[in-house]
Amino acid sequence: MATGTLHIDLDAVLANWRALDALTGPATETGAVVKADSYGLGAGRVARHLARAGCRKFFVAAAEEGAQVREALGEGVAIHVFSGHMAGDTDIIGDLGLIPMLNSIEQVTRHFEALPGAPFGVQLDTGMNRLGMEAGEWEAVAPLVLGAGPKLVMSHLACADEPDHPMNRQQLEAFHYMTDGLDLPRSLSATGGILLGPEYHFDVTRPGIGMYGGMPFEAARPVARLSLPVVQTRDVAAGESVGYSNTWVAEIDSVIATVSAGYADGLHRTLSSKATLWADGTPCPVVGRVSMDLITVDVTHLTQVPKALDILCPEQGVDDLAEVAGTIGYEILTSLGARYTRRYSGGA
Ligand SMILES: *Cc1c(COP(=O)(O)O)cnc(C)c1O
Repeated sequence: MATGTLHIDLDAVLANWRALDALTGPATETGAVVKADSYGLGAGRVARHLARAGCRKFFVAAAEEGAQVREALGEGVAIHVFSGHMAGDTDIIGDLGLIPMLNSIEQVTRHFEALPGAPFGVQLDTGMNRLGMEAGEWEAVAPLVLGAGPKLVMSHLACADEPDHPMNRQQLEAFHYMTDGLDLPRSLSATGGILLGPEYHFDVTRPGIGMYGGMPFEAARPVARLSLPVVQTRDVAAGESVGYSNTWVAEIDSVIATVSAGYADGLHRTLSSKATLWADGTPCPVVGRVSMDLITVDVTHLTQVPKALDILCPEQGVDDLAEVAGTIGYEILTSLGARYTRRYSGGA
């Protein structure tokens, strides 16, 4: 018995990708970020669906993830690795034709020595101070690197989800300063950057969360639905407590449903006595502590308890749940555990 069923709507992913693509002009190519197993939704399935619809550029965090995407897609698509060429990754990068986004002079040296002539890109730091070469380093190695024909030069915005943040323009200017005049495809924007407007689009965009139905892409179609099966239902008399540490006490005679899934499945313990599950559109409050594999829910008001209660559904999307948990939609999605049965609709 699985802890629940995670329904993933591949057609919604594709519709979101197309909607993000439509926000940029014809000269801008829309790629797709499928790192962290496509934000927990299944990199192979998502990448195949997008590739069939014409997506040709994919992005992952680490070389191992690139291998998974290559296996799903075969040749003919570009797979970029944000962490670049790390020690130990030479074989996988070389054998599978991945494109490491070189982040430092050390990585440039490693790549050119280990895999001369192999494709690569360059990642520049425009102020986020996380990955990429800074202006001084870039100036030092640019002549050598440009001679070897990078496939793409990119940077990443730190505050793109806040359109009015001055950091956006600062990074845009730094990116221009470091890349203007180079005869190379450029990429600056993820989902948030796409929404900032045409100045931020350059040649290639790299949306992730917007495709998966998350903010800041408000127009996104929801992608994930998560249903948790009811294991047991019981009557709890007024004055009795429910769950670890007796944190919830029934004020009236109540009916409590126990559903299968807990914090080991990515449903954070911070949801205890705060989250809501849904019975075909009717809200049912979580009562007591979320435990490792189980959640207790007050279903007193239901005339009939369904076989499963939803925690992600049209009434409560990933960002709604994130708000209750005190985090962001990205973390809700990427925390969804391995114990769920994943059911795909759309695609093949
Ligand atoms: C994760 C990531 C993206 C995608 O970001 P979203 O906000 O999910 O669209 C793009 N570029 C880089 C470098 C990333 O790390």
